[in-house]
Amino acid sequence: MITTIEQLAQAFRAEGSTLYGIGGMVRNPLLGLPVSDYDICSDMAPERVKALAVEGGIAVSGAGEQLGMVELRVGDIICQHTTFRRESYGDGGNHRPNHVEFTDDLTKDAARRDFTVNTLYVNILTNEIIDPFGGLADIEKKVLRGVKKDTMSRDGVRILRMVRFAAELGFAIEPDTFAAAKAGVEGLRDISPQWIRSELNRILLSDAKYGNHGLVGALEQLEELGALDIILPEVTEGRGVGQRREYHKYDVMNHLFHAAAFAPAELELRLAALLHDIGKPESLNTTGRMYMHDKIGAEKAEGVLKRLCYPASAAQRVKELVRHHMYDLRGEAREATLRVWMVLRGRDTVRGLIALRRADVLGSGIETGPVATADRWERVLMDMERRGAPFSEKELAVTGADIMEALSIPAGPKVGSVKAGLLLHCARVPEDNRRDKLLKIARDLVNNS
Ligand code: ATP
Ligand code: MG
Repeated sequence: MITTIEQLAQAFRAEGSTLYGIGGMVRNPLLGLPVSDYDICSDMAPERVKALAVEGGIAVSGAGEQLGMVELRVGDIICQHTTFRRESYGDGGNHRPNHVEFTDDLTKDAARRDFTVNTLYVNILTNEIIDPFGGLADIEKKVLRGVKKDTMSRDGVRILRMVRFAAELGFAIEPDTFAAAKAGVEGLRDISPQWIRSELNRILLSDAKYGNHGLVGALEQLEELGALDIILPEVTEGRGVGQRREYHKYDVMNHLFHAAAFAPAELELRLAALLHDIGKPESLNTTGRMYMHDKIGAEKAEGVLKRLCYPASAAQRVKELVRHHMYDLRGEAREATLRVWMVLRGRDTVRGLIALRRADVLGSGIETGPVATADRWERVLMDMERRGAPFSEKELAVTGADIMEALSIPAGPKVGSVKAGLLLHCARVPEDNRRDKLLKIARDLVNNS
């Protein structure tokens, strides 16, 4: 029974093959960073890898088999084995080579990879590192460099991976590699929305991966490359759209970059911050002002996320956050009004809006200190939570059945409106969320209606 990668490597050796680790598995330890997944490779053909795994009692799946990839569960870890291969690409950048040929030549396998620092192979049994394209020197210099001259034009995903790795690792992008990506940026049009979404997510959360804070830089790079015009044209529409100098240092687009970086590292909040003002260019065009940009922006944000195949729940949440991001901008709402607003929006949306308000204000590039409205909302929310305020009808101390029975009313819309009334009441007086108290208030509500 094979339970470790070393044992797997021994089984490969018994068959005359050398097993290597590749990618992050080699790169990250050299940088003192944790390994996030296990990519292994050798010259062994996929069918033989599978047969060997089955003999060794390892669970196998053949994901990506046509490209020679086999997934193996070794002990607790999942490894992806890819057979050394060379690839050729047709025109366009659609991330799918039109021809794949297995090879026993490691250097040829290396040549189809993306960056020199991702082209380090470690012999699992001897720990010897093989470095065909100078990846060790680039790790030393903290530079991301394409493996070959045409690397960046072969596959549009590499353009996003380049920006993502630079942000995650805190690396500079070698100028010729950047220029090649820029020249080949149209290749991104051939990439499926799912791939774009997946890389965009990783870029937006790049600081959470290893603690390097490069999100603004990454978004600026995407813009400079022309990639943002392709994947998020709604954001680049804000390029050069000026805002009132006393509140904003940046144009709308750059404000969105900075707001995203100030949002907590939670995907939907980052998306909401990145998209919150995308309604501004249109509202400016149609009204000459920025009125209703929250409403226009909410619809647009939903459209963006649908186009990129985000789950409906994410699109809804981001839409809701964008829709309400202008609420009580000056902090003038009465506290009772705020409480009711919070119950209507729901706890989760309110928490998101607090984070978004902070990101919005700090992302203006003018204010640096505490954000008064967000701080106040947070105090009110905490007070409501401490006093046990219900934020949904489910959290009320009475059910619809309780109300029907105590008030002798039949099922119907009236029960719903009583529940809604009770919820609003408890927003103001959370302590009343008790069965006896609520039934009494319910009676008053029915009698007075
Ligand atoms: P991470 O630590 O984030 O997993 P990684 O370098 O291991 O980083 P993976 O996406 O796991 O990246 O891919 C493994 C390896 O496969 C890469 O290091 C690279 O050599 C190669 N690779 C992956 N995607 C591409 C691509 N689109 N073009 C060329 N090579 C690629
Ligand atoms: Mg990996």
